[in-house]
Amino acid sequence: MPAYILDGKSLAAQVRAGVKEKVSRLAQRGIRPGLSVILAGDDPASKVYVRNKVRACEETGVASRLFAYPSSVSEAELLSRVGALNADPAVHGILVQLPLPRQVDAQRVLDAVSPAKDVDGFHDVNMGALVAGKPGLLPCTPAGVMRLLEHADVPLAGRRAVVIGRSNIVGKPLALLLLRKDATVTICHSKSGNLSEITREADILVAAIGRAKLVTAAMVKPGACVIDVGVNRLPDGTLAGDVDYEPVRQIARWITPVPGGVGPMTIAMLLENCLRAAARE
Ligand code: NAP
Repeated sequence: MPAYILDGKSLAAQVRAGVKEKVSRLAQRGIRPGLSVILAGDDPASKVYVRNKVRACEETGVASRLFAYPSSVSEAELLSRVGALNADPAVHGILVQLPLPRQVDAQRVLDAVSPAKDVDGFHDVNMGALVAGKPGLLPCTPAGVMRLLEHADVPLAGRRAVVIGRSNIVGKPLALLLLRKDATVTICHSKSGNLSEITREADILVAAIGRAKLVTAAMVKPGACVIDVGVNRLPDGTLAGDVDYEPVRQIARWITPVPGGVGPMTIAMLLENCLRAAARE
């Protein structure tokens, strides 16, 4: 039987509806959650991501402001903008869209964001809280994956989870969140030998690589839950995940599609983080 499809689009719509309701409740306390987005350069994918985030804010009643800079922007200019937004009480969330232009030290800009407004969860303070198991703002994509797993009641405790990818924004934090739920977690990367040998042991297999269709059916344990974080543009212009979807769907028990899986959940979690940051006022 083909896998049950983890429909991120519909779950994200439910989350957004919940956010909208909570935004109207906060309005009764005189609070309107506000997100400021910093975009530098003209990377077309970044522009699309930012547009989608701004649209999601509008739809749920979160006030959004976009600060767009040319690719020649200096680090000092961005740091000064972040400083002003940190000091602005109407701004609850600050999002710095990556990648930043080459002349800018992205980590320095991310670390300048107040941890309380770091709705992307990339600040060292929030990363540290995640490692230590303390409360903090969680990075949106890993949080979205966990919400999908929870919603579908995918068993995690005592199960083998394998995450392919060790980036600070997806692979590493997701591995920590899976560990929090008592999964036995392995992280793989480009230097891992015998990748398929490891992935075939996974009850939960996450691909966060950025290589179209790298995960084939031969790498998947029958009955596994396969989460595809990857977004890759194929030469014909269509989008593909890191998982060879059709053949893997035939043997997995759960699978996320691309598009319509993890992507919409990322934006939904961003909105929840804005709400959380605003409600802490
Ligand atoms: P990244 O920083 O480039 O990290 C990719 C990871 O994959 C690295 O750890 C790399 O290993 C590993 N890798 C590369 N080739 C490999 C191979 N052949 N075998 C095993 N591991 C390999 O990427 P990222 O930012 O984590 O993003 C990963 C993917 O998710 C991208 O397609 C991105 O567009 C997508 N993404 C989607 C969302 C969403 O909302 N849907 C959000 C964020 C990212 P090394 O560390 O050894 O180099």
